[in-house]
Amino acid sequence: MKKIRLYTPGPCAVPEEVLLEMARPFEHHRTDWFKGFMKQVREKLREVVQTKNEVLVITGSGTAAAEAAIVACNPPGSKMLTIEGGKFGQRWGEIAEQYGFDVIRHEIEWGTAIDPKVIADYLKKDPAITVVMLTHSETSTGTLCDLEAIGQITNAAGKLLIADCITSAGALPLKPDAWGVDVVITGAQKSLMLPPGLGFVSVSDRAWKVIESNKKQHAYYLNLISARKSAEKNDTPFTPAHLLIRGLNKALDILLEDGMEAVWKRVASMAAATRAAGEAINLKVFSKRPSDSVTAFSCPEGIKVPDIRNGLQSRFGIQSAGGQDHLKGKIFRIGHMGYVDEMDTILAIAALEQVLYTLGHKFNLGAGVTAAQKVFAERMK
Ligand SMILES: *Cc1c(COP(=O)(O)O)cnc(C)c1O
Repeated sequence: MKKIRLYTPGPCAVPEEVLLEMARPFEHHRTDWFKGFMKQVREKLREVVQTKNEVLVITGSGTAAAEAAIVACNPPGSKMLTIEGGKFGQRWGEIAEQYGFDVIRHEIEWGTAIDPKVIADYLKKDPAITVVMLTHSETSTGTLCDLEAIGQITNAAGKLLIADCITSAGALPLKPDAWGVDVVITGAQKSLMLPPGLGFVSVSDRAWKVIESNKKQHAYYLNLISARKSAEKNDTPFTPAHLLIRGLNKALDILLEDGMEAVWKRVASMAAATRAAGEAINLKVFSKRPSDSVTAFSCPEGIKVPDIRNGLQSRFGIQSAGGQDHLKGKIFRIGHMGYVDEMDTILAIAALEQVLYTLGHKFNLGAGVTAAQKVFAERMK
């Protein structure tokens, strides 16, 4: 028997109902039916992303949505500051460079979060900076930054803030409007419980002003102005990814049935249980400021990451993630996003104990599961 159990921090497990929805016959998109359908999806998206702003649907993965935002928010004369503490933060600086935009790429140690004061200092020292871009939950290291504090700083300075919320929107507390996040980017295959292929961008009024002033729109396909024009008519500028949007509607229903507060609580519990379990079985959390959507553990000495991951996969069908770039072989990651719940977390911890035990790691078998059980039981009180 081969049961697939996805604990990767993207793509994440998709509910059966969503998969079934996408298996149904579909209709043409230039129809009243599709327009009515898109109208509902737009409303639900705003609720899940917790913004009153339009959430534009982009065909492409999360990176496509981010590229659309970077291109739109960097008119001639602009200057972007990127905060890079992992694989994804780096990507945004790379995109800006590739387009020849003026960009300051501030690197921080992987596994740490930016101190908001550092951003305040940059903005004070260099008034030419017009936009700041960073990753809220850096999936590659399992690290969360203080987006609320950063939003206060960029807002007070009158600068745009673009946040990659690909593993925070729909999983972690996020209040873009109250926090002053101008552009929120997310993607389908993480907390939104869909197969990959859709990206999302929400844009504040302040950011629209900048985008509209941008006479040199570099993008054609990933153009936010055409995306907005169509969205206002419940339409899309190009052929939409029908099946994914059908699935999206279902996935949004599932999230909203619980309500975002409950979703955030569940994700936080799963992460807390996983960290407690790790401590009980002599594993160290890699990040200095852990994100609740994915836990990165440092690999114990004498054990190899591929042996852990292969053991999980071959014995229990569990797919986990390793580290990227210089963290390859140093960390392994378990996600808490998508169609996973508390009991799935217990299962992953039990499996991890089995694999580590076989590999000779020293700990009390069952201690991880017990620690996780305690976290869940306490939170149920
Ligand atoms: C997955 C991820 C991305 C990249 O998204 P793609 O859908 O692979 O293009 C960007 N940022 C973060 C934080 C992610 O987790």
